[in-house]
Order: sequence, then C-alpha cells, then structure tokens
Amino acid sequence: MNSYWEPGELSAIKTWEQFQSGDISIYDQMRDFPFKIATSTLSPYLAWGDISVRSIFYSVMKNDSPATHTFTKQLIWREFAYHQLIHFPSFPTRPLRFNFERFPWQNDAESFERWTKGLTGYPLVDAGMRELWETGYMHNRVRMVTASFLVKHLLVDWRKGYEWFQHTLLDFDVANNAMGWQWIAGTGIDSSPYFRIFNPITQSEKFDSSGAYIREWVPELSNLPAPYIHRPWEAPDFMLEELDIRMGIKYPLPIVEHSRARLRALDAYNTIKGTK
Ligand SMILES: Cc1cc2nc3c(=O)[nH]c(=O)nc-3n(C[C@H](O)[C@H](O)[C@H](O)COP(=O)(O)OP(=O)(O)OC[C@H]3O[C@@H](n4cnc5c(N)ncnc54)[C@H](O)[C@@H]3O)c2cc1C
Repeated sequence: MNSYWEPGELSAIKTWEQFQSGDISIYDQMRDFPFKIATSTLSPYLAWGDISVRSIFYSVMKNDSPATHTFTKQLIWREFAYHQLIHFPSFPTRPLRFNFERFPWQNDAESFERWTKGLTGYPLVDAGMRELWETGYMHNRVRMVTASFLVKHLLVDWRKGYEWFQHTLLDFDVANNAMGWQWIAGTGIDSSPYFRIFNPITQSEKFDSSGAYIREWVPELSNLPAPYIHRPWEAPDFMLEELDIRMGIKYPLPIVEHSRARLRALDAYNTIKGTK
C-alpha cells in the first residue's frame, strides 16, 4: 500500500499544492477518464483528516475561475453527503426510499465473489475492482460503473457493495460511501433512478476508449486492440488464438449478458415501482 499512498499531513499538503498548480486547470475536461488521473486524489487525506476541507475550499476560492467550479462542486457533494448522514443516521444501512427494503435482491454469493475479484468478464468492471484491491483507490467514474454492475446486472444488495468498499477503500468515508451507493442504487435523495442502467461496454468505450486503463489492470487482455478490449468475447477466434487469450479459461466469459441482465433488473424494479 505504501507504494500507492503516503499518509500524513505533509503528503496531503504536497498533493493539494501539486493539484492546485497543475491538474485543477484540466479537471473539468479530464476528470471522468480513469487512465489519466486528473482528479486531486485527496480523498484519503480528507477521509483521514490529514487536510481540512475548509482550507482547500478557501484556497480554491482565492483563485476562483470557471475551471475550478467543477472541483468546488465535488467538495459540495461531500458536504451534501455529510448533511444527509446527520439527518438520516441510518444512511449507510437503510435505503432512504423505503420501498427498496422490499426489493428482490438475489445476493448470489458466487456472483458477489467474482465481482470482488474482478472476474466478471466485463473488462472495465474487472479493471476497477482489481485497481481497488491492489491500491485501495478507484476512480470515481469506475466506482459508478462497478457499483451499478453489482446492484443492477448482478442484483446484489447495495449494502454488500458498501461493505466491500468499506473493507478496501483507503478513502472510506461513511457519508460519501453511503451516498455513492444509494445514488447508484436509486435509493437515495436526488439519486440516479434505478431504471438508469449503466452499460459497462459503452461506458468503457466512452471513458477508456484506447483501453489504456483496462490494459493496466487486466494484463491478460493487454494485447487486444481497442474495439475488442471493451468486449473481448466478440474478438475473432484467430485473434484470440494468436494472442493466447482463451476465453473462459484465461479471461472469463461475461458473467451475465448485458441486455438480458438489464431486462432482469427492470423486472425486479417493477415489483416495487410506485410503492411507498
Ligand atoms: C459507489 C461509490 C462509493 C464511494 N465511496 C466513497 C468513499 O467511501 N469515500 C470518498 O471519499 N468518496 C467516495 N465516493 C466518491 C468519489 O468516488 C471519491 O470521493 C473520489 O473518487 C475521490 O477521488 P479524488 O479525491 O481524486 O476526487 P476529486 O474529484 O478530486 O474530488 C475532490 C474531493 O471531493 C469529494 N468528492 C468528489 N466526488 C465526490 C462524490 N461523488 N461524493 C462525495 N464526495 C465527493 C472527495 O472528498 C474528493 O476527495 C464514492 C463514489 C461512489 C460512486
């Protein structure tokens, strides 16, 4: 872990100063792309209290510009999460939309384990889960994709995902983690509706178009060219053979088929839709 994160106040200040004099200017355009980390990576320092959110906020406001607004908004999301936790202390354990208590989660143990190990057969999901296990960090875009995959494609209760992130994230934060999971599961305040289901393939094509992030974390696919690195099961046999990628052996086949999983999730949602 030491090779990925240096704890402590001095390191927190250094990280902040580097970000403020560099990537904050491209944060707005680049923050969604996991390969080039253009975000601050301050979250572990904030979560552990190594740096104060107020000092960051006032320091940004001194050099306020359109480029910094998007970053300030993220700090405000954090405040929003804390606000929700104060008003709803059961935020990490109970859905704020109570009808989700009756959601028919399947909670299949093997599916959950494959998700935790980055063996779902969806390269972007697997890259994120492996990055998390190795480094204790995962890019926000990939957190959204992996979390959505768990609760919608695999129908595993968001609280299981919350607990796994609690176990593995260096920046674990009760309020932010609860908000992240409730937002994705559609169970929280102002959250993404349950029926909005991220497509892990198009997300991968859009936010990791060259496949550079996947190549870093899923080395068994590293030689696959870009169109197929997002959907290796569609690569022609001769290519897979040449690259020694045996689907189902060296790299898993998709744990669920996307369009079928999507319909299954919507059917599950329909059982509680419109109820209180
Ligand atoms: C399912 C899920 C779980 C999450 N769990 C956590 C968690 O346990 N701890 C945590 O700090 N963040 C969590 N997040 C929010 C977000 O992913 C991280 O804060 C962000 O990726 C940290 O990277 P950064 O410091 O480079 O962020 P930057 O983009 O540089 O943002 C600066 C700071 O703003 C705050 N922030 C940014 N985005 C969010 C957000 N969406 N919600 C709340 N605060 C935000 C963080 O404190 C972050 O350090 C979660 C998101 C999701 C979707």
